[in-house]
Amino acid sequence: MTTSTPSSGEQMPSDEEWEEPDLDRMMRSERKHEWISEPKYKRMFDDIEDALQGVMGKGKFEWVDRRVFDQVFDRLTLLALHKLMQQGGIQTIDYPIARGKEAHVFRATSANGPLAVKIFHTTNAVFKGLAKYIDGDPRFSGLSRRHRELVNIWVRKEFRNLKRMRKSGLRVPEPLFNLKNVLVMEFIGVEGTPSPRLKDIEVNDPEAVFDDLLKTLAVIWQTCNLVHADFSEYNILWRQGVPWVIDVGQAVITRHPNAKEFLVRDVTRLTEWAGRKGHETQVAENLVRVLDGPVPDLSENTSVD
Ligand code: ADP
Ligand code: MN
Repeated sequence: MTTSTPSSGEQMPSDEEWEEPDLDRMMRSERKHEWISEPKYKRMFDDIEDALQGVMGKGKFEWVDRRVFDQVFDRLTLLALHKLMQQGGIQTIDYPIARGKEAHVFRATSANGPLAVKIFHTTNAVFKGLAKYIDGDPRFSGLSRRHRELVNIWVRKEFRNLKRMRKSGLRVPEPLFNLKNVLVMEFIGVEGTPSPRLKDIEVNDPEAVFDDLLKTLAVIWQTCNLVHADFSEYNILWRQGVPWVIDVGQAVITRHPNAKEFLVRDVTRLTEWAGRKGHETQVAENLVRVLDGPVPDLSENTSVD
């Protein structure tokens, strides 16, 4: 995660539907209470323990053990999940779909069917090892809070980037809720099974998929005024014959000083992917299409393979 991205300079459109949660209040209560021994947290944990069964080593994924639980579900994360459950957004968290350095993605269930819940880590391994030296030392109390704030800002950025891309008709998961380090979004899968990554499948018509993805890059740039900045076969899911773009936390606005550089990298990766699949094209020409080609019509996009 690149936390150096200046987000203050970004002019994101206001998201009317989205209400800022009362983060300050939660932060204040964080400092006043001792974790779990406080009856309030004990009750909260009792409330959601059943709903978290799938991630506590009782589910079908053996690698989910106590350590994963500790890494992902710290106190403030549990508080955020508790709140999302109380508000009716999530019923249960079922099992992990993927774990990364920066986040775990879980399949969850709501009244309306499956959801994807991306939980960003607020501590990293190094930090965790140091925690015992830092906890209780007032000189460092600002450090972890600052780190948390950066993570929270990052998650909000992914939420807003997804929204902006959805508005332009792109195939990205619909963002649903966002609280602290938790992002709840549309589940990309079929009948509860998550879709594979483009990396893990063979497509029948690489040229058509390439064209579709190049259009996607053009819409992200020209219509959303963004650049994905981590566009690759790892961040594209394949659902029912069409690609879905995910992982947009690092996407930046086109005015970002490195935006063009990121775009070149995105286009290069796509060009190389298509080349490996037997469809040879030139990066320079593809770049021109993304930057200056006519704004693509996404209505033709319904099936590409
Ligand atoms: P990371 O930052 O860890 O790379 P990603 O957003 O790429 O996070 O998600 C990691 C993995 O989780 C993806 O490769 C994909 O398999 C799965 N995933 C992410 N979002 C969804 C979603 N909305 N629906 C289904 N699976 C998802
Ligand atoms: Mn990813």
